[in-house]
Amino acid sequence: MRSCDVLIVGGGPAGSTAARALRRAGADVLVLDRERFPRLKLCAGWITPEVVRELEMDPDSYPHRFLTFPRLRVHYRALSLPVPCVQHSIRRFEWDAWLLERSGAPLEQHNVREIVPDGDGYRIDGLYRCRYLIGAGGTRCPVYRALFRELNPRAHELQIVTLEHEIEYDWQDPDCHLWFCEHELPGYSWYVPKEGGWLNVGIGAIAARMKSDGLGIKEHWARLAERLSGGLTRGAHYDPAGYSYYLRGNVEVVRRDNAFITGDAAGLATRDLGEGIGPAIRSGLRAAAAIADGAPYRLDDVTGASVGSIARSMLTRAAHTLGAPGRSRRAPGGGPVDGLRHRDQ
Ligand SMILES: Cc1cc2nc3c(=O)[nH]c(=O)nc-3n(C[C@H](O)[C@H](O)[C@H](O)COP(=O)(O)OP(=O)(O)OC[C@H]3O[C@@H](n4cnc5c(N)ncnc54)[C@H](O)[C@@H]3O)c2cc1C
Repeated sequence: MRSCDVLIVGGGPAGSTAARALRRAGADVLVLDRERFPRLKLCAGWITPEVVRELEMDPDSYPHRFLTFPRLRVHYRALSLPVPCVQHSIRRFEWDAWLLERSGAPLEQHNVREIVPDGDGYRIDGLYRCRYLIGAGGTRCPVYRALFRELNPRAHELQIVTLEHEIEYDWQDPDCHLWFCEHELPGYSWYVPKEGGWLNVGIGAIAARMKSDGLGIKEHWARLAERLSGGLTRGAHYDPAGYSYYLRGNVEVVRRDNAFITGDAAGLATRDLGEGIGPAIRSGLRAAAAIADGAPYRLDDVTGASVGSIARSMLTRAAHTLGAPGRSRRAPGGGPVDGLRHRDQ
């Protein structure tokens, strides 16, 4: 049986962030993930400046695709509002693998099924033993299932369903577009350009409200695809896939003895825009601090509101524009960007 101080189930942003912090603190850490990295993760890949800062990520030395949008374009019925701000995109396929490798933690490919408390620690599938266990396995995390589900049942009214596709596409519009409540969608759809001619298009909405409101997500998708093919993404072909996760609810119990849940396993995404990466990273850092320093494990304030981040970055953007007028760069895979794309070609 393989033994370690800390076993982390799941190598997404929550797991890799916890792994990195624990390795830095000198802990003996092992990450288990059922997938082989780099792996596909359905996600628009929009990240905030807070995420970049909290990860101590230097976009200039990041070896993969990283794009800063010149602005968001928010569409609501007949309104179309340009929001100049500083927000970014990455490809999860590349970014998650990079974060995990950067953590320095060993990774084993293993689909965790059975978790059994064992003295002051846990046994996993009869193959691994650890003193501390971090559940970072996303919505269907086995640590959540085995140790937390009964105490923190999922709130169905907070379940988000999604459909999305990330394609190689020579986009011309470098803005990130968000369409709210189109055709009574209880959520929004997006167009998120990525550096180097990649593009993510998707829909996310509250499952319970969509069912009662008539149109299903596939019908919403068909309308979105039709609109995009008539304009922003002419000639593109989509074959979308779906996934579901949970917006932040009352997460009462996030630690049980030496077991912790983080990220989507705890259901921490923001209530306004379903942003889950930032809360995943913050909860991963907190779990690591609880184990390494004995800090309390509290997640009350890890979620916040995504519009707060957007508003803060509008101010940053305004200050930058005032300080550096006339800056202009060209976005690869797209048209001219009159602002902050922080990667030189
Ligand atoms: C379509 C879509 C678009 C989204 N867009 C955005 C966005 O643009 N910005 C944003 O901030 N958030 C977005 N989110 C939410 C975001 O993707 C998640 O909140 C975030 O990935 C959570 O990170 P995590 O580390 O908790 O879990 P995950 O990233 O899901 O990682 C969990 C890992 O656990 C592994 N795992 C699962 N089960 C097991 C098992 N039994 N054994 C071993 N390993 C296992 C998985 O393989 C996976 O690698 C989106 C979500 C969806 C579905």
